[in-house]
Amino acid sequence: MSAPASRAGGVFESLVRAEILALTPYSHAAWQPHLVRLHANEAPWRPAGDVTEAGLNRYPEPQPQALVRELAALFEVEPAQLLVTRGSDEAIDLLSRVFLRAGQDAILQTPPTFGMYSVAAHIQGAEVIEAPLRREQDWQLDAARLLAAWRPAAKLVYLCSPNNPTGNRLDESAILAVCETLAGRAIVVVDEAYVEWSGVPSLARFLPRFSHLAILRTLSKAHALAGARCGTLLAHPELIALARRVIPPYAIAQGTVESVLRALQPAALAESRRQVAQLLQQRRWLAQELAALPQVEKVWPSDANFLMIDGRDAAAMLGRAAAGGFILRDLSGYPTLLNSLRVSVGSPEHNRQLLRSLRAP
Ligand SMILES: *Cc1c(COP(=O)(O)O)cnc(C)c1O
Repeated sequence: MSAPASRAGGVFESLVRAEILALTPYSHAAWQPHLVRLHANEAPWRPAGDVTEAGLNRYPEPQPQALVRELAALFEVEPAQLLVTRGSDEAIDLLSRVFLRAGQDAILQTPPTFGMYSVAAHIQGAEVIEAPLRREQDWQLDAARLLAAWRPAAKLVYLCSPNNPTGNRLDESAILAVCETLAGRAIVVVDEAYVEWSGVPSLARFLPRFSHLAILRTLSKAHALAGARCGTLLAHPELIALARRVIPPYAIAQGTVESVLRALQPAALAESRRQVAQLLQQRRWLAQELAALPQVEKVWPSDANFLMIDGRDAAAMLGRAAAGGFILRDLSGYPTLLNSLRVSVGSPEHNRQLLRSLRAP
């Protein structure tokens, strides 16, 4: 048993939960699309309203090869370095379950940041260690302070760049310094949900250099597919193989597979790039207009598709927006953002209407 187990973990063996190494993964129905499927107890007829090509009566391909190939090309990695997941949220869940032992392990995160890292860790029974980003450092990553907070129990180190909710991207050299120091000791997970708006390239090009670097990309934001639930984990092929042991067998729904493949056609990609560019112009304009409002103390620079605002009275601003029909994100639950809120850059028309609501007497 120990020989195949050690092969399963590869370079990650010392970090992976023993149960995952010992696991015999679920064996899904063989994928042989040229044969008639009488091996998976599916219905032989199509359901009413089915608009998929493959048929919703059939189980989908477990990791659809065409989708993996297209996403790997889009994110500039090899297919073996990519796992398709139900949004980045599922990738975070898979990493937690592969690496975190209840009552023993931990994650290290840099609040204020995305809430799912700690939720997934807590579900798994792991501890959450924090090295907060600081307002007086413009929410920039301080590699030395992060590394000082790191302990061997912290198997996963999350860096969100650009960071949600502060909007800034983290300094690349600081991220690489963290990867360098923690090489072999922890998985450094860089969440690039908003990288398309940042004007800087993905860190995926560093995957060959750092086997313990994992990158999260999603189609929910710049590809306008939040409702499809599709994200990816980009990592060393042995880490992808470990996550595949844990992901449910038919995770990616057929409707999602086909929608995403359509969105990855060259013309569709060109259109989403045009939309991203237009949103960046709106971001610039909206930031200026918001900064001119008397109730706004500061609009933080943004590398994402949203703006973080410090208000003089954030609750009153939220109320005015709501009276105009808009819901903004209240950030007062973060101890360092008591008077802050987050606005997604909307359509030009909605942005104008929002400003009108905020200016209302
Ligand atoms: C929106 C967002 C995601 C995307 O999550 P999905 O599950 O892919 O929709 C991931 N990380 C951060 C920081 C986000 O803000």
